[in-house]
Amino acid sequence: MNTMLNKNASTLVQAINAKIQAGEFPSERRGCLCGSELQHQVSNVDWLGLTAQTVICHSCGLMRLNPRLSKAGYSLFYGSDEYRRLHSGEEFIADAERRVMQKQGGQILALLEPYLTHSERLKVLELGCGGGWNLLRFDAQRFETRGYDLSPGLVEFGVSKGLDLRLGALEAAESDYGWADLVILNHVLEHLNEPADFLRRLREKLKPSALVYIGVPNIDNFNTGQLQLAHTYYFSPRTLRYYLQSLGFAVAELGPAQNIHMHAILTPGEARIEPQLLRGEYARLMRIIRNHRLRSRAVRALDSLGIKGLLKSALGMNAVKSN
Ligand SMILES: [Zn+2]
Repeated sequence: MNTMLNKNASTLVQAINAKIQAGEFPSERRGCLCGSELQHQVSNVDWLGLTAQTVICHSCGLMRLNPRLSKAGYSLFYGSDEYRRLHSGEEFIADAERRVMQKQGGQILALLEPYLTHSERLKVLELGCGGGWNLLRFDAQRFETRGYDLSPGLVEFGVSKGLDLRLGALEAAESDYGWADLVILNHVLEHLNEPADFLRRLREKLKPSALVYIGVPNIDNFNTGQLQLAHTYYFSPRTLRYYLQSLGFAVAELGPAQNIHMHAILTPGEARIEPQLLRGEYARLMRIIRNHRLRSRAVRALDSLGIKGLLKSALGMNAVKSN
């Protein structure tokens, strides 16, 4: 159980765990994207204390939840009273407004700028766009924007800001894959039950000249705060690059985003598959995880001596939470 949670929240976490235990949220087991079933368990709870079996593939080093909730299970989970109450501490519209004020969309545009050599007005499609806070940074003179999100409230919020936002999952947006010159997938891939299937369909329908921007957590920055029941896959720069290549995408750049996360920009062109990216990846990530555990243990020991605050920052243990 996360010791940061207040009593109310920990009661909700316990209620959700009881439902998971009782099988009220349907779950499923899946092998790794590489096809291997060999795995090592990394954690059995997420950052809140929710039951979530995070494993790492012995063959390729990709981390994932296994078992995970099925698609129907996730719908029930997000629609449950407990989940809503767990996240109702933050005012919905105030949070959306705060995100509009953040510069994330501007950072995405700045990263893409070197690749935007087209002279015509570009069509930008964002999947999982939330309230459209990223798209607001793409000025209407240069870009025609469109976004899809599952939350009726957030879509309504974005529409009130003058954006072309539509309610729907990835399937609803599929007819627009071929419309876009640029597709933005910011913190979407790590939530998908079948990311490879989705990327394959996207690749098939994209214009040959289209760009794709991807933002995901970087599990090289391993921290228990990164582990979330909502995250089905955890990529490292190496596993992300390899799987994008193997799905037919040319990776033009891959680098950091928002400090602890990472971004990739995919450009048209021949995908070059580099199998060597996965060589030793399991062992490398296990070392990162072990080092994190050793540091956590050291911090807990210092905490019990009452001197944690002094040394926590020196050990690079400032709590981070992925979005
Ligand atoms: Zn694997």
